[in-house]
Amino acid sequence: MSDFLPFTRPHIDEPTIANVATVLRSGWITSGPKVLELEAALSDFFGGRRVRVLSHATAALEIALRVCGIGPGDEVIVPALSFVATANVVARVGARPVFVDVGLDTRNIDVSQVEASLTSRTRAIMPVHFAGLPAELDAILELARRRGLRVIEDAAHAMGASSAGRRIGSFGDIACFSFHANKNMTTIEGGAIVGGSESETAAVERLRFHGLRKLSADEFEVVEPSGKANMPDVNACIGLGQLPHLAELNSKRRRLADRYFEQWNAGGALRLPARGDDGHCWHLFAPLLPVDSGVNRAAFIKAMEARGIGVGVHYPAMHLFQAYRAMGYREGQFPNAERIGRETVTLPLFPAMSLSDVDRVVEATVPSLQEAKR
Ligand SMILES: *Cc1c(COP(=O)(O)O)cnc(C)c1O
Repeated sequence: MSDFLPFTRPHIDEPTIANVATVLRSGWITSGPKVLELEAALSDFFGGRRVRVLSHATAALEIALRVCGIGPGDEVIVPALSFVATANVVARVGARPVFVDVGLDTRNIDVSQVEASLTSRTRAIMPVHFAGLPAELDAILELARRRGLRVIEDAAHAMGASSAGRRIGSFGDIACFSFHANKNMTTIEGGAIVGGSESETAAVERLRFHGLRKLSADEFEVVEPSGKANMPDVNACIGLGQLPHLAELNSKRRRLADRYFEQWNAGGALRLPARGDDGHCWHLFAPLLPVDSGVNRAAFIKAMEARGIGVGVHYPAMHLFQAYRAMGYREGQFPNAERIGRETVTLPLFPAMSLSDVDRVVEATVPSLQEAKR
């Protein structure tokens, strides 16, 4: 019996672990010089744009909405398929998430349906680069420009992704990245806000730390009450160890994804996700199961687990959660998101995997699909 293969696993090298020990011994372990160093490195990575790091992407997205002045009475366009944080942050600032369906294979917001969802209350569009495949940003940015809207990208899956040779985060309005343990680059927990104006960046600094603004050596002002979402130096130090390896780790992900496509190109029972091009950073490999021909997803996951393979689900359609049904959303409104929500499975894909691990997953799907039909 071979080792259990999880659907993902973080990759932290020994030098990074040693650097964490150095920070722990330094006497300064929360936000300090390592945070400034990581922000400078990320700014370089994103072509010189303003970058501030935070405790996680959920806080980054919520603070980005706040600095854009979005609140009660406002509407924000979000795809119906994402991790629920994408919609939750909109609701948490008091605005209404307005869902739009996604492409069945791209999983990204269907731009052709966005315009019909705009009202006089719409303030922003929040595209998600699902699984690391860039959304149609040019069309979204152009529509936003025409209608006077902000674009806040949920780029949690897209660290290192690029669109037509331009890195996600290096252009556009505001992009928020996640450095959660499962994401392509990790600080254990962490996030970043990229872009925005100088005054918006100053607001990010206040909002991630109680709303404080330092006035002098011995005085500060509280401009608006806020919570706390700063990143500790221990975490920033992990990010500094990850960033130089990101391109290499993402190209490993791409090779593994290519192997899945090669194995299934001849035809398989699964519906494969859109393949994109070299700009896809393959955060997730998530095909659809043939649920309509009788395959039970929970049984499939159990059958794969019995063969030592971890399978995830990313994600259920957000509008069908109780919290969003309570806002008036219902079944049948976003058929692609609903179908993906029912059929999607995330198969193992992380940089330490080998091509033969992919083959093992592919081989296990055949009997697992059989068992899951009974
Ligand atoms: C992970 C994730 C988030 C939240 O990131 P955290 O850093 O865990 O707060 C937001 N949106 C999407 C699409 C995600 O996958």
